Amino acid sequence: MRKQIVAGNWKMNHDLAETESFLVGLKEQVFPEEVTVMIAPSFTQLHHTYKSLRDHPVTTVAQNMHQAANGAFTGEVSAKMLKSVGINTVIIGHSERRAYFNEDHDTLAEKVNAAIEEDMTIIFCFGEELNDRKSDAHFDVVKKQLEDSLFHISDHSWKQVILAYEPVWAIGTGETASPEQAQEMHAFIRKEIAAAASQKIADEVSILYGGSVKPNNATEIFGKKDVDGGLIGGASLAVDSFMEIVNSF
Ligand code: PEP
Repeated sequence: MRKQIVAGNWKMNHDLAETESFLVGLKEQVFPEEVTVMIAPSFTQLHHTYKSLRDHPVTTVAQNMHQAANGAFTGEVSAKMLKSVGINTVIIGHSERRAYFNEDHDTLAEKVNAAIEEDMTIIFCFGEELNDRKSDAHFDVVKKQLEDSLFHISDHSWKQVILAYEPVWAIGTGETASPEQAQEMHAFIRKEIAAAASQKIADEVSILYGGSVKPNNATEIFGKKDVDGGLIGGASLAVDSFMEIVNSF
């Protein structure tokens, strides 16, 4: 049975006061036992959020990390540093990191290796741009993203991986991939994992969909057989909309 997961990516939103107010609301909620729930605040709120949620079913996740263990990388944070404040899960390869911070395939492969080495769980994001889809190159693009940065890991490291298919054209745009488009791509991804690793690994890895998931479309998207939940941006910023999505399976 694959894990059903809803992870909120706050991006560069919510300062300390806003985070605290979200956490107060979150802790009043009842969580479905079968859903793994995660939130990814900014670096400055990570330790506070982790401490606040320590005895709570929601996991605190980092949005990024540097691939080096330490050194002269001003402004960056390593896997070890994340672990030292209680964070064991990290998002790697979000399309905004790829687009605005020039994170290429090799850098992402190094980040994957560094996170695995530190025994962290990775939420590995990937997905095609609008031009790729229009030119019917979306399957090739997705396959290459996975081959270049992820498929080199050893079989036993796959238990540390959660995938998030996020078509770039659907992120923050209000435009969602149709449930059928999401299912078609998730089935393709699973097939590629079976070829690169094994059928067992492909059957066990959770593949989330991300891109304008909202309370009014989550049930239909999560209802597809190869969609195991969502990575949620905008709708994860308020407790009400986030919880509606958490309860959409
Ligand atoms: C994201 O940032 O990963 C995301 C899916 O954002 P949104 O839900 O706002 O499209």
